[in-house]
Amino acid sequence: MSALAEVLQALSFRHVSGELPRLLDTARQEQLSYEAFLHQVLLVEATHRQQRLVGVRALAAHLPPKVTLEGFDFAFQPSLSARHIRELASLSFIATCTSVVFLGPPGVGKTHLSTALAWHALDAGYSVRFTTLARLLDDLDAARHRGDLGARLRAYTRPQLLVLDEIGYTHLAAKQAQLFFQLVNARYERGACIVTSNKSFSDWGAMVGDEVLASAILDRLLHHADVISITGQSYRMKERAAFFLPPLSPQPAARAKGGLRRGRPRRIRQDPAVAE
Ligand code: ADP
Ligand code: MG
Repeated sequence: MSALAEVLQALSFRHVSGELPRLLDTARQEQLSYEAFLHQVLLVEATHRQQRLVGVRALAAHLPPKVTLEGFDFAFQPSLSARHIRELASLSFIATCTSVVFLGPPGVGKTHLSTALAWHALDAGYSVRFTTLARLLDDLDAARHRGDLGARLRAYTRPQLLVLDEIGYTHLAAKQAQLFFQLVNARYERGACIVTSNKSFSDWGAMVGDEVLASAILDRLLHHADVISITGQSYRMKERAAFFLPPLSPQPAARAKGGLRRGRPRRIRQDPAVAE
């Protein structure tokens, strides 16, 4: 190992020490100035450290594999306003502790959009936590049994953005409903959320198993909220159908009718694309 590589190792510049022969070759060929060469060396190490840090933070955030808004086919989902989603990518909803609620049937891209926004927020330096309602409730329930519910709740209330995916796939037991309320209450006006649900708000009472608790949850969740109803077809079905059937054509620009939007409390910003 060269003396230079040894010093870099000693300084924990581990990545750049492996890259050194290549960087030196390039510097000689391109006759880089001392200043430009030093910049290159430090940049290679800094970029690597930054990427590693994002990886560590993504693991801690429990993020699903990365997807992007660029990878989302807005043409397939005409009920969705691409402009509105790109506005969300400015991430101002995090600073204002706003909830973003994606409603719609399975396969329309709720998890994709939530994941893409969560990754975007993580890359921008925000603290993020991603979970499904089922995993959250299992985790909180286990903590309650161990007697450290408070500490576990803080793990979900501290991050600047919490994504709560898949609300509505299971009916909640009374204790689970209480835990769900405790979480929403603890985050209320303290942090931003993205939540996804296949259930209209009017069905949350049955899902939570308690109308009063459901309306207390919705009251807090929707006090500062941006509700986005997606009413198109399942992208999964489109992909499957491509093997067997002629291509499906997207539905005409769908209007959210009753169902998904009934019973929504006041003071909610409407998605212009689905406003009635
Ligand atoms: P949901 O959460 O609404 O059930 P998902 O977000 O899980 O749906 O989408 C199902 C699959 O289809 C995922 O692999 C997702 O990346 C993909 N998908 C959904 N909608 C689109 C779209 N409009 N463009 C590209 N991929 C999409
Ligand atoms: Mg989903």
